[in-house]
This record gives sequence, structure tokens and C-alpha cells, in this order.
Amino acid sequence: TQSQLLQSEKMAAVGQLAAGVAHEINNPIGFVSSNLGSLRAYVDRLLEVVDLAAPAVARLPADDPARLAVEEAWHAAEVDFMREDIPALIGESAEGLARVRKIVADLKDFSHVDEGVWQDADINGGLESTLNVIWNELKYKAQVVRDLGDLPAVRCIPAQLNQVFMNLLVNAGQAIESAGTITLRSGYEDRHVWVEIEDSGGGMPPEVQKRIFEPFFTTKPVGQGTGLGLPISWEIVQRHEGTISVDSEPGRGTCFRIRLPVAGAQPGTEAAP
Ligand code: ADP
Ligand code: MG
Repeated sequence: TQSQLLQSEKMAAVGQLAAGVAHEINNPIGFVSSNLGSLRAYVDRLLEVVDLAAPAVARLPADDPARLAVEEAWHAAEVDFMREDIPALIGESAEGLARVRKIVADLKDFSHVDEGVWQDADINGGLESTLNVIWNELKYKAQVVRDLGDLPAVRCIPAQLNQVFMNLLVNAGQAIESAGTITLRSGYEDRHVWVEIEDSGGGMPPEVQKRIFEPFFTTKPVGQGTGLGLPISWEIVQRHEGTISVDSEPGRGTCFRIRLPVAGAQPGTEAAP
């Protein structure tokens, strides 16, 4: 449809931009984070020197000019500030950098969306292995229920489909505030394999649901969301000639459904005459 074409064009443009931006940002992230490490080490050493000298200074008479001079100097150098606040400042900066790094990693995934090898793969296996990767984050809040059907192999780029499953599972986990259920279903019908990833989380109001495939649309706080997970997933499913749809209700949860053709128009698969 017209709006899908528009979406594709937007995605291609954003993809090109993303590749450039990700590349440019990676370098400074590298040196800023290594400089932060060095600064931290220098401050620690300075404080060690202070701590080494402190007992000797304390043994001097209270009115000794040398003691007064040293104490004056420490005061002027704001030694207590260094001890308390500098590690906090450096820690905060490191956290900021980690966020930027995450955004860049997402942008990179996004711009590499067309790499990978087409092969016949087992979708249930992909779901399971992706779940394994993020199980450590999910296990505290989500119980996972599986209802997986017998599936024929799907012609696909498994690494990309796993990225889609990952994005949906991460979102499902984030949608569950403290405890809930994630249900994985799959099946085969009408020459299509379908997968559902459902969560019992907060759901979405219609005005959010309308925008979820827009690049950079997010309702999450800075640092938690980049708004790229679903547009990337949308793009990948498109490449596989499939569809992705969503059903969501505020307060009840969300169900994403992916449908992939088993034998069809994907590159490398010619339907037998
Ligand atoms: P991000 O997760 O970085 O915000 P996404 O593209 O993955 O970006 O998702 C976009 C938005 O869609 C989210 O910010 C959220 O508002 C909504 N969303 C996606 N998945 C879910 C879900 N399972 N439950 C509720 N809201 C969701
Ligand atoms: Mg996401």
C-alpha cells in the first residue's frame, strides 16, 4: 500500500543516516570512555598521596606553620570534594556513555539489516535460542509459557529473525512491571508459519499503537528506549515477505503476531512449477 511504501522509503533513509552516525560516534565514545578511566585512576592516586601524608601532618603541633600550610592547601584543593563527588561525576558520565553506546549498537543493527545468509531454518529453534539469550533478564519478572506447533522450515535469514524475536521479547519484558506472563505460540497454516509473542504487561492505548513502527518513537524514559526495535523488526519481516501485527489493550497486555511464507517469493526460493 501507499503508506507501506512511504514507510519503506523512510526506513531506507534513516538506515543510511544511521550507518553514518553510528560509525562517527563510535570513535569518540571509545576515547572518552578510556579517558574517563584514566581520570579516575589519577584522582585515586592523588587521594592516596593525601592519605599517606595525613598521619604525618596530624602528628605536627596544631600551630606548626608547615601543618597549617598543608591543611590550607588541601582545603583549597577541595580534597573532600574529590573523594566524594569526582567518583560520582565520573560514574554518571560512564552511565551516560553506556546509553550512547546502546543507541549506537541499535543503530548499527538497524543499518546492517540487509546482511546475512538465507537458509531454511526452524523458527521454534530460533525462538528458543533467542529466549535463552535474554532469559537472565526476564526470569525475575516473567513466567514463560510455550505453545509451539510443528513447523516446516522457513526460508529466512535466521540472525535477522532472531533479532525480531529479541526486540519483541525485550519489549514484552519491559511491559511487565513486576510479575507477569510471556506466552510464545507458533503454528502452521495456509503455507505460512506464524509466531505470537504475548505479554500480560501494561498494553498500549490506540494513540501509541498507531505510532509504534515509526523510527525513534518511544514512550520509554531516556536510556531505556531508542524507538528502533519495532521499526527494525518491521523492516526485517518485510524482507521476509511476511507481516507483523499487534493486538493490545491497556491494562491487559499485548500480542505481536508474525506471519512468514514458507515457500514463496523470497530470494533463493523458486516455487516448483
Ligand atoms: P523502544 O522499546 O526502544 O521504546 P520499540 O520500537 O521497541 O522502541 O517500541 C516502541 C514503543 O512501542 C515502546 O516505547 C512502547 O510504547 C510500545 N511497545 C512496544 N512493545 C510493547 C509491549 N509489548 N507492550 C506495551 N507497549 C509496547
Ligand atoms: Mg524495544
